[in-house]
This record gives sequence, structure tokens and C-alpha cells, in this order.
Amino acid sequence: MKKINRAVMGCWMAIALMVGSLGAQEKAISASDLLKDPAVMAAIDAAKANEAQAIEDDIRFCEVPAPSFMETARGELLRQTFQQLGLQNVRVDGAGNVLGDRPGAAATPHLVLAAHLDTVFPQGTDVRVRREGAILHGPGIADDCRGLAVLIGVVRALKQANVRTPGSITFVADVGEEGLGDLRGMKQLFNETMKGQIDRFVSIDGSGLGITNVAVGSHRYRVTFKGPGGHSFGAFGLANPIDALGRAIAKIADFQVPKLPKTTFNVGRIGGGTSVNSIPFEGWMEVDMRSSDPASLASVDASFHKAVDAAVVEENGRWGSPRMITVTKDLVGDRPAGSTPDGAPIVQTAIAVTKALGFAANLGEGSTDANVPMSLKIPAITIGAGGRGTGAHALGETFDTTDSWLGTERALLLTIALARP
Ligand SMILES: [Zn+2]
Repeated sequence: MKKINRAVMGCWMAIALMVGSLGAQEKAISASDLLKDPAVMAAIDAAKANEAQAIEDDIRFCEVPAPSFMETARGELLRQTFQQLGLQNVRVDGAGNVLGDRPGAAATPHLVLAAHLDTVFPQGTDVRVRREGAILHGPGIADDCRGLAVLIGVVRALKQANVRTPGSITFVADVGEEGLGDLRGMKQLFNETMKGQIDRFVSIDGSGLGITNVAVGSHRYRVTFKGPGGHSFGAFGLANPIDALGRAIAKIADFQVPKLPKTTFNVGRIGGGTSVNSIPFEGWMEVDMRSSDPASLASVDASFHKAVDAAVVEENGRWGSPRMITVTKDLVGDRPAGSTPDGAPIVQTAIAVTKALGFAANLGEGSTDANVPMSLKIPAITIGAGGRGTGAHALGETFDTTDSWLGTERALLLTIALARP
């Protein structure tokens, strides 16, 4: 325990040093007086002492199925846990996000600490968790049941040590982070439920001690070309939706995109037609485009629209039938891009806390709940929840709990630091 406390002292010293070298705006983050706060030190001890409970929570949450759009049962478990641990105004919003408040001396700064409820595994998946020494096996055990367990671990440690924070904290177990969930929980939280009230945001997602401060955005479309269709011989001369699709794909395949910021495009699925001797009445494709730079994403998106529209004009022109082929482009995925600068106080605080625990602080990019606040320019990061996960999004997912308390402790320290002016 002494060793940890030394590490923690180093941590706050690191923050104090950092604060000294930053401008006036950032000076507010000073944490030197926290060094004198016995409640903070007690919370740090509690976080480690409670790690066995955090591991039990991970298993308990994970054994309740929660595919995206079906998070209600797991959400209810989190709602009960929030209530048992004394959070205030525990509520479920319109999207299914579960929220609980821990008011500070003042309403601001208002920090949101979140972890996602949903998994990529469909209903009916065997979600029982198997324990083999330090290793837990189960779908979702790291991504993101571990994040939920750390979220609760922070609430528990703050309560046990009776930590009073100057600013306020809202804890959120959110829906719709994965796949076609399309960040719907975060969109609801930032655009409706807590619109204009969130000053800082931290998502706990996955394992390890990484820090994500760049949000890779994505646009996904389902594109459907339609025409009258007819006999391949008898009706020859009709514009062909699959030919239009082919023209569009040929244009997309030749897109030029920047290597940095990495910007990508992909035609992932195609389909259409009914038989070899019929001019099809429909052809469709699914297209995915990504970038961490909002301007680059917008640019490749614009090229995509141009390519599809031009393909329609060309196919109709080929057969002299101006309005025969029509197209619809349905946006089926929209994850905004964005970033929190490396030098931002929230990033620097996370780095200082991580280094103080004796670990390198690696900044990275990803697509997480923090995409939404980053795109709104609200200071936001995503942090790993400690331990070591393998096989995320696979049925054989595992979580190695060795020294996983470090993840809980880092999340706790960061929470205390960010709930201060
Ligand atoms: Zn996740």
C-alpha cells in the first residue's frame, strides 16, 4: 500500500508540475491541495482493496445479455447498483442510458464518466463467464463489462472514503456504442438528456491503460439503384440498375484519399437482380468511409455522392432514357470524427495519472463513445479499464485480471482530478 501511495504522490506532483507549465486557463486544474486530503488517499486504498468486488461485478454484469438495442436488462442491473451505492437522481433516459448523479460543492465543472452497456453478440449467445485462475472467459468480459465494473468501482471508492468533490459527477451506463447502435446513447445524452451541461467527458472502454483522444469518424450508406426491369432479350434497351451500380463502384475504386489523416473507403457488400436473363429492377451496395479528420471525411463523403449521381446520369444517358434509373442513398451509420488536442488539460491530466502509476501513457485513435463530445468540441477522452483483454468482439473474448486494480485506480484518480475547477 505504501508503494501505491508513493506512486500516487508522484502522480499529483506530476500534475502540479504540468499545471505549472500551462497557461492561465489550465492552471485551474491544480491538484496540489488534494495531496492533503485524507479522503482522497482513503479512496485510493479502497479502489485497490475492492478489486475482487470489481471482478465479481464484471462477471455479474456480463452474464446478463445486452445486444445493441436490447440493453434494458443489463441497464436495470446498473440502475439498481447506482441506487445501492447512493447515487442521486438515478434515472433512465429516452434512449435507455442509465444515469446517476454525485453532486459536488458546485454544479460545475460537470464531469460525465461513462461505460457502454451493449455488446456485439446477438440474443441467444451463451454469455456465461468461465474463470480460470486470473483469466475470465466470456463474450463482452472486457468490452465493455470491465468498463462498467470500473465505473462502479469508482462510485464505490468515492462513497467508502466519503470524498467530497468541488465539481459534480454524473455516472452513465450507456446504450448503442457498438455497430449499428451508431452511438445513439451518446447522441441522446449530448443532444437531449444533458444538452449543454457536460464540461468534461471520460469513457471507460476495453482493457489496458491506453488513452484515446482522436475519434475516427465514419459514414456508412446503403445505396439502392432502381429501374423498371424486364426481359434481357425482349426488353433490351432499358437502363440497368446493376450497370449503374457497377459504374458507381468503378468511380469509388479510383478515389484518392490522404494517408494522413488516414482516410478510407470500402464497398463492403453488393446485391441485386433476380435471374441471369432478366434486366434487374434493383441493385444495391453498402459503403463505409472513415477518417479522424472531419474535413477529410466530409470530402470523401462528397466524392461518394458525386460518384453515385454521375453513375445514374451515365447509365440513363447510355440508353437515352433520362429518368429510368433512380437512386436512394440511406445513411445507416454516422459516427462523427473529432479530437481532443494532445495538449488539452484533460489529456495531460490522464497522461500524468498514468505515468504516476508507473506506465507509459500512449495516446491513440479509435471509434468510441467519446466521438460525440469530441465532435462537439467538449473535452473528452476514452481510457482503458486496466487488465488485459484479448479477442474483443469474438466469442472467445478473455480478460486477464492480473493487476487490473491499476485500471480502477487510474479511473478513480482521473475522476477526482477532473471533478475540480
Ligand atoms: Zn467497447
